Amino acid sequence: MRLSKMFLPTLKESPATAEVVSHKLMLRAGMIRKLAAGVYSLLPMGVRSLRKVEAIVRSEMNRAEAEEVSMPVVIPSELWKESGRWDLYGKELLRLKDRHGREFCLGPTHEEVITDMVRGELRSYKQLPVNLYQIQTKFRDEVRPRFGLMRGREFVMKDAYSFHATDECAEREYEVMRRAYMNIFERCGLEFCVVEADSGSIGGSFSHEFMVLADTGEDAVASCTKCDYAANTERAELRSVESFKTSDDKKIVEVSTPGVKTIDEVSEFLKADPKSFIKTLIYEADDNVVVVLLSGYSDVNELKLKRILDVDTLELASDATIEEVTGAPVGFAGPVGLKDKEVKIYADWSVRDIPSAITGANKKDTHIENVSPERDFKAEYVDLRIAVEGDLCPRCEGGRFEIRRGIEVGHIFKLGTKYSEAMGAVFLNENGKERPMIMCCYGIGIGRTAAAAIEQNHDEAGIMWPRPLAPFDCHIIPVNMKDEGCVGAAEALYNSLKEEGLDVLLDDRKDRAGVKFNDADLIGIPVRVTIGPKTLKEGSLELKLRKETDARLIPKDKAVEEVMAALNGL
Ligand code: ATP
Ligand code: MG
Repeated sequence: MRLSKMFLPTLKESPATAEVVSHKLMLRAGMIRKLAAGVYSLLPMGVRSLRKVEAIVRSEMNRAEAEEVSMPVVIPSELWKESGRWDLYGKELLRLKDRHGREFCLGPTHEEVITDMVRGELRSYKQLPVNLYQIQTKFRDEVRPRFGLMRGREFVMKDAYSFHATDECAEREYEVMRRAYMNIFERCGLEFCVVEADSGSIGGSFSHEFMVLADTGEDAVASCTKCDYAANTERAELRSVESFKTSDDKKIVEVSTPGVKTIDEVSEFLKADPKSFIKTLIYEADDNVVVVLLSGYSDVNELKLKRILDVDTLELASDATIEEVTGAPVGFAGPVGLKDKEVKIYADWSVRDIPSAITGANKKDTHIENVSPERDFKAEYVDLRIAVEGDLCPRCEGGRFEIRRGIEVGHIFKLGTKYSEAMGAVFLNENGKERPMIMCCYGIGIGRTAAAAIEQNHDEAGIMWPRPLAPFDCHIIPVNMKDEGCVGAAEALYNSLKEEGLDVLLDDRKDRAGVKFNDADLIGIPVRVTIGPKTLKEGSLELKLRKETDARLIPKDKAVEEVMAALNGL
């Protein structure tokens, strides 16, 4: 492609609204432009990179013998009502009505549509398994769309769904996909890890996420320093604390804490270690109120809590509910002597480790000390908190968690029969019995993968594309467009490299060399060849890798081989 003809509006400065590097650089390198919050147009440079991601994804999916299909973006509400998600998915589902008043949604994911597509068609175990995928636009009305393509509202996803007659078959395919995903992200040139994950609103029995490690990642990954256990901190299991630490049996005493409510305030006021506090949270879970206890320094993991309670909705209770349950204003709740004796108390295992605790007294401006969990209240002890750096690994002896940030680029789920049962996707097994199909599903964010590649590969000057995702392989810069020799050599190399099947960018603009070099660093093509009149007289061109600081001279008549060798070495 000739740059003089290309639609490549680069920017010197990044717009103030862009927070992360990939968003800034995608805007500056003329890859994307915003149309509305979380809704972006892809410019030619953006299309090129995203197509490269898609091509790798498509080739690995085809290699694993999944078949490509294409499903509509607009989905009739009936299907989502059948699965029960119409009411449960909440505000992320963009709902609309047609001229007849019929309800539809824009597909945020396609379990319902694919299940509808195969039910009635796949009737016998002999027709199973199948694995169908598409690369298609999704819409999720995210609360906080941000970071450009990283968390859009409209975005492109590769989603795949497999259907099976047996659990073993489903798990075999899950493994095939896990490997295909590893190949995909390796081929993209990314540094990533695979972690155990929560299944979220998609549901199902187990799942894994593919995380590109980067400081700007929105997810936190806990990985053991000794064994290979790794999980999203949303999911990470913790080692249980089986027995209570014994206390010295001091009696509970009330202490006056006028107006001091938070753990930090109370610990400061009483000059006590926050570790000796029991934090009390009150939740409304579906139609019940539950009390949750944690050690003062830890945070509740609401996904774990939701799973334990097996509820659809979970929210911190309103002030009015808290006052009703504790008989005191907000800020003084505690597990001892709750007014409403009927509420169920769940305590994190770590509470067992606090022999003599401080908690709210369920009385205005008052806390109590010397609370002994075993003696003073009854609770169900469970794993409720978020993993932190240094936590003991639940799988091996002596390993501890290290916490790193990650960007979730792919997610695979064993769904089981959640959708097939709800939607009547059944088949006849070997014994002629009707059974729901067992399903798995597998997603990759195409734009997010390209953005993650930039998060991992950039410097102050711009993008440093891993070769497999680069919009072009080679960037040719003739430094003087008025010099015939220079232009001729550039044109010749451009044509020869294109004949080799490379994607080549020729900067044939009449701009100053400095402008061209700045743009080259910004758009980040892996190999750059500079053609200047001086070196050309000596029969040389200059070759520079975007990832290296120094350029080197190469003989003009060996330029094609040199460029090919440089690319192959990347
Ligand atoms: P997240 O937790 O980041 O919101 P999710 O778990 O809801 O994502 P999945 O339903 O697992 O996402 O979707 C599969 C893949 O689609 C994700 O791994 C991610 O790469 C991509 N994806 C999901 N939401 C978005 C989004 N808002 N913008 C861009 N890509 C997305
Ligand atoms: Mg996910």
